[in-house]
Amino acid sequence: TTDTATTDTRALDLLADFPAIPEGWAYLDTAATAQKPQAVIDAIARGYGETYATVHRGVYQRSADMTLAYEAARARTAKFLGAESADEIVFVRGATEAINLVADSWGVSQLKAGDRILLSALEHHANIVPWQMLAERIGLAIDVVPMTDDQAIDLDAMAAMLTDRHKLVALAHISNVTGAVLDAKRATELAHGVGAKLLLDGCQAVPRIAVDVQEIGCDFYAFSGHKLYGPTGIGALWARKEILDAMPPWQGGGSMIDRVTFEKTTYAPAPGRFEAGTPHIVGALGLHAAIDYVDGIGLDRIHAHEAALVAQAREKLSAINSVRLFGPADSAGIVSFAVEGVHPHDVATILDEGQVAIRAGHHCAQPMMDALGVPATARASFGAYNNARDVAALVAGVERVTRIFG
Ligand code: PMP
Repeated sequence: TTDTATTDTRALDLLADFPAIPEGWAYLDTAATAQKPQAVIDAIARGYGETYATVHRGVYQRSADMTLAYEAARARTAKFLGAESADEIVFVRGATEAINLVADSWGVSQLKAGDRILLSALEHHANIVPWQMLAERIGLAIDVVPMTDDQAIDLDAMAAMLTDRHKLVALAHISNVTGAVLDAKRATELAHGVGAKLLLDGCQAVPRIAVDVQEIGCDFYAFSGHKLYGPTGIGALWARKEILDAMPPWQGGGSMIDRVTFEKTTYAPAPGRFEAGTPHIVGALGLHAAIDYVDGIGLDRIHAHEAALVAQAREKLSAINSVRLFGPADSAGIVSFAVEGVHPHDVATILDEGQVAIRAGHHCAQPMMDALGVPATARASFGAYNNARDVAALVAGVERVTRIFG
C-alpha cells in the first residue's frame, strides 16, 4: 500500500493492512487509540520473536544490535517531528508521562511561587492535572484561555491574557474532543512574546497533520505512540537540547547515571538521564514501524482523507434536526456531537448494535464539558483506515437513535 502512495490523491483504501478491523465494523474511536497495521504487529513479533535482547548494557552482539535498533527508533522519531537531533527525543510511556516529566523536572527546577501557567479550556486531563499538582506543590497560579464559539482555543483571548508572569503555556495541538487545530506558530509567538515556554500536547496531531517542531518554534512536544498506529506504552517527549540539558533527572535508577557511589552520583546526559530502568525496547521498534507506515502513506494524504470523511459526516449529521455538532467545520479527523434529549451513552450503545464503535463521555476533558454545559458528547473519530461506508453507518445509526427516541 505504501510504495505507490505519494502521487495518489484518491481516497485511501488501507483496511487490508489492519487485521483487527473485521469486515463491516466501523471503528470510529481512533482518537482514543488507533488500530495497528500489520507492519507494526510484525515489527513487534520480530522484536520479541527473533531479535530480542536488552539495550545499552550487553556486550554480546545481539544486545549491541538491539541497542542500535532502539537508537534508530529514536532517530526516526526525531526526524518525524523535525527535531534537530535524536538527543532531543526522550522515550516515555506516552503523552501523560511526557507532560508529568516536564512538570516534575523542568517545572520544579525552573518555576517559583507566584509564577503563572496558561492552559486552555479544552485541554485533556493529562495536560491539566500535572500542572495543578505542580501548582499546589510550589505555589503557581493557573489561568485558562477560553474557547471560541466553535470550540477552538481562542488565541485572541490568549493574547490579551498573557503577562510576563506567565512562564509556561501548555496547549493541545489538536483537540481530542472536537479535532480543532491550533495555530501552533501563532501560539508560539504569543507565548515567546512574554518570555513563556510553549508545550504542545501533540497526541491527536501527530497521526493527523505533518508536524515540524523547528518550524513551529515551540519548546516541548508530547505524543503517544498508540494514537499513531503504534504500540501502547511508548511515546515521546521532544524538547530543545538546551532545555533538556538544563533539566534535572526525574526518576532515578539504572541507565540514567554516569557514575554511582554512596557519596555522590552523577547523571548521564539527556536523553538517557530521563530514561531510568529498562525501557520499552520492543515498543520503540513498534513505534519506528508505525512512523514508517504513516510517512509511507504521507500525512498530507491522511489529513485530506480524514478531512473528507469529517466533511461528509458533518454535512449528513447536521441534516438531522436533533443533532448538534461541536467544533469548527475544518476539524481534523474528529466529530463531536449531541442528539437532543438522548444521553451520549445511549447513542453509543445503539450505534454499537449496528457495528459502529464511537466514544461517548467526557473524553478526559471535564472542564471543557462544563464550559459547553453538557455532561458528555458523542464522538466519532477517524483514522487512515476509515472510509465513506463508515460515515454512512454512523449516520444510519444516528438516524436510528432519533427514531428510537423520537
Ligand atoms: N492529550 C490528548 C489530547 C489525548 O487525546 C490523550 C489521550 N486521549 C492524552 C493527552 C493522553 O494520552 P495517553 O493516555 O496516551 O498518555
